[in-house]
Order: sequence, then C-alpha cells, then structure tokens
Amino acid sequence: MPAFSAMLSEFDLIRRYFTRPARHADLAVGDDAALFRVAPDMQLAVTTDSLVAGTHFFHDAPAGGLGWKTLAVNLSDLAAMGAVPRWATLALTLPEADEGWIAAFAEGFFKCAGQYEVELIGGDTTRGPLAMTVTLFGEVPAGQGVTRSGGQPGDDLWISGWPGLARLGLMSLRNRVRLINARRALAALHHPVPRVEAGLALRGIAHAMLDISDGLLGDLAHLCECSKLGALLDARALPIAPLIETGVDEAQARSALLAGGDDYELLFSAPRQKRNALAALARKLDLPLTRIGRLAEEAGPILLDDGTGCPRPLGVCGYDHFAPGA
Ligand code: ADP
Ligand code: MG
Repeated sequence: MPAFSAMLSEFDLIRRYFTRPARHADLAVGDDAALFRVAPDMQLAVTTDSLVAGTHFFHDAPAGGLGWKTLAVNLSDLAAMGAVPRWATLALTLPEADEGWIAAFAEGFFKCAGQYEVELIGGDTTRGPLAMTVTLFGEVPAGQGVTRSGGQPGDDLWISGWPGLARLGLMSLRNRVRLINARRALAALHHPVPRVEAGLALRGIAHAMLDISDGLLGDLAHLCECSKLGALLDARALPIAPLIETGVDEAQARSALLAGGDDYELLFSAPRQKRNALAALARKLDLPLTRIGRLAEEAGPILLDDGTGCPRPLGVCGYDHFAPGA
C-alpha cells in the first residue's frame, strides 16, 4: 500500500528523488530487488546503521546534513574494515511527504554518495516517526578485512583526526558550552567525514581497527576485548589542542575526546615498525594520525598514564542505548 497519498505519491517521490542511474549494479531502484556482482576474489562487506529522530538527532536537524550523515556513518564502518564502499540501500521513514525536506535530504545523501562513488540501488519508503537506515555493501580482497580482533601484544594505538569535536558541537547545541569557534565542532557533528581513504590505506598496516562512534574509551574497550589485550593510554599524547582551540578547558576537551561519540574517526593498532609508514600516510592524506598509547602484553584493563608514573585504570564510558538512564 502506498505510504503517502497526498500530492506526491510514494512512487513519485522515489522516482524523483532517489532514482539515479547505476553503473556498477546490474539492476538498481525500480524492481523488487537490486542485482549486483562481487568479483570472485573479493569478499562482500556489509554494514547497516540507523539514525532515529530524538535518539541520534534533533527533530529540527538540517535535512541536508542528515542525508549526508546517514550514509557517512555507514561509510565509516566499511572504512574501518578496509573495504571499498560500492552499493547502498536506504530505508526512509517519514512523518509526511514534505518535498522541501526530501529534496534537501536527497541532495545531502547524493553529495556523499557521489564523493565516495557509492550507488543507491534500492530501499523502502514508509510513513512514521522520522528515521533512516542505510545498508552499505562493499568489497574487500578475500581475507584482508581488518577486524577488531587482530591486535597484537605491544602494538601501538593510533587515532585519526579530531575525536571529541562532534561532542563539543552537540554540547554547544544544548548550550552546555560556549564555543569561540563552534563552526568546526558543528561541522563535525552534522557533516562527519568518513575516513574511507585512510581505512583502505591501513589495510596491510593496521592489525586491528574500528571506527569511533560511541566514544574513544568505549570503542577501545571493544578492540581490547576482541583482541584479548589490555591497553595503556598516554594522556600527554591525546590530541586535545584542536579541541581547546574551540574555547573549552583542558578537562572538557579530554572528556569529549575520551567519552564523546559521533566521531567517525578510526582507532587502530599497528606494530611499531610501521611508525614511519604511518607518518608518511598522514602527510599524504593530510589527516592527523596520532599515536595515543599501546596495547598491553596481555589481557587487562585500559590504563591511563598521566605522567605521574602510576597509570590508573579508566572506567568504560562509551554510549550504550540500553544502559539505565541512556
Ligand atoms: P516493494 O513493494 O517491492 O517493496 P517498493 O514500492 O517499496 O517495492 O519500492 C519500489 C522500488 O523503489 C524498489 O526497487 C525499492 O528498492 C526502491 N525504493 C523504495 N524506497 C526507496 C528509497 N528511499 N531509496 C531508494 N530506493 C527506494
Ligand atoms: Mg517496499
């Protein structure tokens, strides 16, 4: 049954806003299912992520930003596997067929899709509380996907970019902080740049990798748990300077960096012999890669060394949708 009956029908809406020619699929939007092929020596990498109004964004969040972000958060997951993104489906639940909103959303979505050469090959459009789910399909040479479990004892720990900025953007929207320069922080929140190139380049360098979506510490805990190793973070190495530039103090910056969320940066472990290669990669990509500590020699807690000579254990504070009070 069509979900919208007013001036713009569900089918007009799909045709007008979500149908684009696909070059890398045999059959895209318009049939009961899409058809595409994966090269014989590749593995299909699949990920899905939802954005739900009221949970992941404010109801009045800019539509173009949401269109971008709903794809970008999925691109970040495939980047963290070292997979090349290729095809996407989009399940869109809309309270009404507001054409202005849909046009802006589609523009943001296809801007991101165009930039990372992803094709929209299908989806679903229904009426209900505003929410969007993208499923993204990509390819990775068989056996070369970078998992969370590959960390080796003593590996260096690295992060890309500026984790914590998005959290500062969110705090400034909620009037919890007054930033001198809110623009960068809001851009990180509304327009995260998925580290697709970095993820691909890290294949063969990183032993273990994941993207930081729920806060650095929480996501590091996942990497540690999957790799069955503890970790030691060096407080003095954490890249808080770019956060302090937005006008927060050191404690706020550190807490946004460690326990923020919505960052979509990469966190990975790599052997120390790769330090030069990683410095060269950071220059080539014009993207900061910061060594923030190392994996321990065995299983154990995440410790923070703040220069006192007595590293202390850190609690896990990633975001958990089902935690009491979340
Ligand atoms: P069905 O009833 O078989 O589920 P639909 O009417 O839901 O088919 O969808 C018709 C076609 O439009 C399908 O090819 C579907 O993949 C595509 N489609 C529906 N919604 C979207 C969307 N938001 N973005 C892209 N493709 C969509
Ligand atoms: Mg359908």
